[in-house]
Amino acid sequence: MPGLGSAGGDGKRPQAASVVPQAVVGGAARGVARGVENPYLGTMAGFRAKVSADSVATARESAKLARAERYELQAVLRGVIFENPRIRGCLRFPRAAARHVEIHRAHRSRLAHYSGLQTCGRGGLCPCCGAKIAEHKCREIQAALDVWRERGGVPALLTLTMPHYRSQGLSDNLRAILAAYAELVRNGSYRRLRVEAGLKHSIRASEITYGPRNGFHPHLHILGFFGGHFDARAFGDELARLWLANLQRQGVQVDNPGAVLLRGARVQLGFTAGAEYVSKIGRTWGLAEEVAKANRKKGRGEHYSPADLLRHVRDDTLPGAAGVFREYAAAIDGKSLLQWSPNMRDELGLSAEKTDEEIAAGIDQADTVLALLSLHEWRAIRFGGVAAITRVLHLADDDEDGALGYVGELVRCYELSRGY
Ligand SMILES: [Zn+2]
Repeated sequence: MPGLGSAGGDGKRPQAASVVPQAVVGGAARGVARGVENPYLGTMAGFRAKVSADSVATARESAKLARAERYELQAVLRGVIFENPRIRGCLRFPRAAARHVEIHRAHRSRLAHYSGLQTCGRGGLCPCCGAKIAEHKCREIQAALDVWRERGGVPALLTLTMPHYRSQGLSDNLRAILAAYAELVRNGSYRRLRVEAGLKHSIRASEITYGPRNGFHPHLHILGFFGGHFDARAFGDELARLWLANLQRQGVQVDNPGAVLLRGARVQLGFTAGAEYVSKIGRTWGLAEEVAKANRKKGRGEHYSPADLLRHVRDDTLPGAAGVFREYAAAIDGKSLLQWSPNMRDELGLSAEKTDEEIAAGIDQADTVLALLSLHEWRAIRFGGVAAITRVLHLADDDEDGALGYVGELVRCYELSRGY
């Protein structure tokens, strides 16, 4: 019977390492050549390098699959928010006056993407623009955290929630929680508390999940930049008291004030040096990711993220999911889901903040241009639907000639179908 023993004993080895470009493998693989006589004879260094190369290959495959899913969910989004021309045109139609569409390879991920196409820039809705915007903001937050740690500061994650009921609409609740936070920040008692605790800067991220039982659950993650050690418990207790008062001032229905005092305001410390912690979903998750990608992670159990709602529409696994997503889209319209406290970017040496539209439309000059496609070729690719659009990228990740060969086939199919 074939088993682990025979797989290890017959000398066969997984081939994944051979398909990983050297540029991606990095330090661990270089360690093979440096520190070991023969990396294939089972020394620990060789083994570690192999595991590392395999995990890089696996991570790359996951990233490719995630990219394909984003295009798939974007097509679902077009069916749900059908009246928005920017969403309809996002990554489908060339930009005004564009003479061709380009295929680029990103210098960070080493994956291919298109350039020269329209983008909607709706980070809270569009899976494709949202991913690019979240990555950008994640890097900025990480840079801010790095500066802060160098100065001896500590980060902490504050989570603010509010009581909510199935019958309440998201629009009203989101407005109420944002107003309660704005009021809290202006409040004299909170200002004093901040000074005592050494809370200098903060980034506010709004996260919205949905559960069939309790409806929408809007809550805020505040990434606090504290000046040094502080009494997190005392800070949390006082924060909860002020938070409850501000919710009540906004007219939020609070049937159980004790529960808000107990769970309405949480302060999480205990991060590693890399500002990571083991999150609710049980895996290590960076603070920057927690804040920047709040609405993009997969929900737990019956707490669905907006992306999960689109998956439910795609799979037809949640009755009314499209309507629920539309309510979410209407509620976040015109609202900033991520906000830096005043002067924070300046003081930490970050450049001026870009709008979501600018980030989505931006081109990274360090990326490699792999190919120029004529507008006719692009029409042929688009004619093949999401499957063709993502297949071209999938091929171009490693082999642009293969991708162009496939584009040639698509053009022939397109011309035949059009009676050229
Ligand atoms: Zn978009």
